[in-house]
Amino acid sequence: MEHFYTIQGEGFHQGRAAYFIRLGGCDVGCVWCDVKESWDADKHPKFEVESLKLKVLETPAKLVVITGGEPLMHNLDELTSSLHSAGLETNIETSGAHPLSGSWNWICLSPKKFKAPLPGILPAANELKVVVFNKSDFEWAEKYAALVSTECKLYLQPEWDKAGEVTPLIIEYIKQNPQWELSLQIHKYINVP
Ligand code: SF4
Repeated sequence: MEHFYTIQGEGFHQGRAAYFIRLGGCDVGCVWCDVKESWDADKHPKFEVESLKLKVLETPAKLVVITGGEPLMHNLDELTSSLHSAGLETNIETSGAHPLSGSWNWICLSPKKFKAPLPGILPAANELKVVVFNKSDFEWAEKYAALVSTECKLYLQPEWDKAGEVTPLIIEYIKQNPQWELSLQIHKYINVP
């Protein structure tokens, strides 16, 4: 769908320079999705894996983030192996609703109620990032926190349009449950893609 060099705005790698590759296609259907234009993969151009790698290598990027859409609707073995062969670090942001493929330095699992993750990805997640849209999302977050590995980082992130309402709830929740941390979409505050 698009690819660009920017700053990772969310989660554990927040603040790092990163080349983003946003793949078209998503069947998860979050009502609050902020990239609905990604849903239909056929509306976006196709790129050769090699040409994408060369685009990344035109920049000083060390880290590549594969996102979407739901990137695991595609088999990512070839893409990640090509990026690794160039010495690049590979991170993925996924709902986990499709089978895991690819070879990853970091897996950010962001489970969505609209289409739950498949069990296979749970032990592999390095980071669990739950978007909080309303109070019931805390229960959803705890359900998945119990299923990921004990080393997995735990983040709660306010849904952008509900941030004014839910951020105070998240802050209070984290104070009471300090295994969780706050993730903010800082790219939206500093106006970078
Ligand atoms: S999984 Fe991501 S891209 Fe898909 S609908 Fe949800 S927020 Fe949008």
